[in-house]
Amino acid sequence: MTLKPHEQDLLNRVETGIGVGGTWATSSSGATFTVEDPATGLVIKTIADATVDDAIRALDSAVAAQQEWAETPSRLRSDILRRAFDLLMDRKEEFALLIALEMGKPIAEARGEVVYGGEFLRWYSEEAVRVSGDYRRNPEGSGNITVSHLPVGPCYFITPWNFPLAMATRKIAPALAAGCTTIIKPAELTPLTTIYLVQLLEEAGLPPGVVNVVPTSNPSAQSSALLSDPRLRKLSFTGSTAVGVKLLEAAAQNVLRTSMELGGNAPFLVFEDADIDRAVDGVMLAKFRNIGQACTAANRILVHDSVADEFVRRVSERVAALKIGRGADEGYDIGALVDKKAIAKTEGLVADAVDTGAEIVTGGQAIVGPGNFFQPTVIDKIGPEARMVNEEIFGPVLAITRFSSEDEAVHIANNTEYGLVSYVYTENVGRSQRMIEKLQTGMMGLNTGLVSNAAAPFGGIKHSGIGREGGFEGIREFLSTKYTLTPR
Ligand code: NAD
Repeated sequence: MTLKPHEQDLLNRVETGIGVGGTWATSSSGATFTVEDPATGLVIKTIADATVDDAIRALDSAVAAQQEWAETPSRLRSDILRRAFDLLMDRKEEFALLIALEMGKPIAEARGEVVYGGEFLRWYSEEAVRVSGDYRRNPEGSGNITVSHLPVGPCYFITPWNFPLAMATRKIAPALAAGCTTIIKPAELTPLTTIYLVQLLEEAGLPPGVVNVVPTSNPSAQSSALLSDPRLRKLSFTGSTAVGVKLLEAAAQNVLRTSMELGGNAPFLVFEDADIDRAVDGVMLAKFRNIGQACTAANRILVHDSVADEFVRRVSERVAALKIGRGADEGYDIGALVDKKAIAKTEGLVADAVDTGAEIVTGGQAIVGPGNFFQPTVIDKIGPEARMVNEEIFGPVLAITRFSSEDEAVHIANNTEYGLVSYVYTENVGRSQRMIEKLQTGMMGLNTGLVSNAAAPFGGIKHSGIGREGGFEGIREFLSTKYTLTPR
């Protein structure tokens, strides 16, 4: 099995090094690590493995660039972000292919990620020039209060493998717009897209040191060193709740500003008054986008008894027709899972669900390699003891639980430590309003299976996170408020 010539050409254009201060370097230890195509197991690139010394050098560089970047007129910062957006749209096909190669998602979805990820560059190029403060008289009449918003300072970003472009731009774009310099550590399974993005930002005119990239196979050592350095002022993390909790503990020692985009366990509610056509379309998107490997993936499909048989039948027909194949090739709906561990986890969750009384309607098996493929699966009648009720499945398994009343549905939906997103299908206006109030999640899709949008505040409550990315809210995560009193 070999790479196609155009794939190899693209991979040759991706830097293999650590990007610090506008130059690309090997690791200070000379160490490297490899990146694989999850659909074939083929090593597609070997890249530098950053050491703690390399990470500290990246922080030196971000600190050195901070003041000048903060003082760069916002119009110039905005122009760079806008140029980066234009360049990314020109290279949509290249970035989509790179994402599909290293992460495994179908190329059509990878194109969608490029558009979604690019929108953060465009949105924050527009927001960069709109940071404002305010001015008030104190109630005593003795002084004037000026409130200004200033960049928090050098930031450290840790991103996951499932959206290697969008999770990077969702952090980098608002930080640059706010006037912060950054160090980014991409996931070790998918560092190439981030490296290529940093190359693109340089081409768009970003000064050296403003964005530094330090891929490493030892994220724990790198993060401990950076989080304990008092020059760092902010951590923004997207990944699992377990790792997020450890990072919050470390960040607390330095009283760092933090933004945490963590795990999810999204309920997808289909009421008896739902438009079933829309609900079927919505669940296919909410479940199978990214092969089920999304924090926003519908994890628990809750369907009213009276419509459940029809819903299960129609969804199962759609699922059985999904085409499985290598993401980087055209025409597939379901690509490979990211690694062998993901296959083992999905198998374990399916076996456990069956042991606890659930019924497989379609799929249910891993596919013999090469590559990490799992059949798209529908499981009905999931009971409360099944592990997948409490854990993120992160695979192409659509798990259905039936309910008989609105109160029961709300109780099941909220019975989780997570609170990222919920999806609700109903045509009843009063019920829609009740769901907005009662479901304990930071986001909700009402008669839609996709909520992500650069103009909206993305984020969760409970164990799903702290802070928001995107929208007007996203830039505030990178600004600190300063109040000045002037006596009259
Ligand atoms: P992960 O937590 O294993 O890894 C995320 C990142 O953290 C990677 O870059 C990894 O190298 C790094 N990391 C791992 N251990 C670390 C440590 N000890 N110290 C510092 N960094 C460490 O998560 P993942 O498997 O890459 O991603 C999947 C998870 O991300 C899921 O839980 C998913 O729900 C979540 N996610 C959340 C959002 C969101 O916006 N809420 C978006 C995408 C993914």
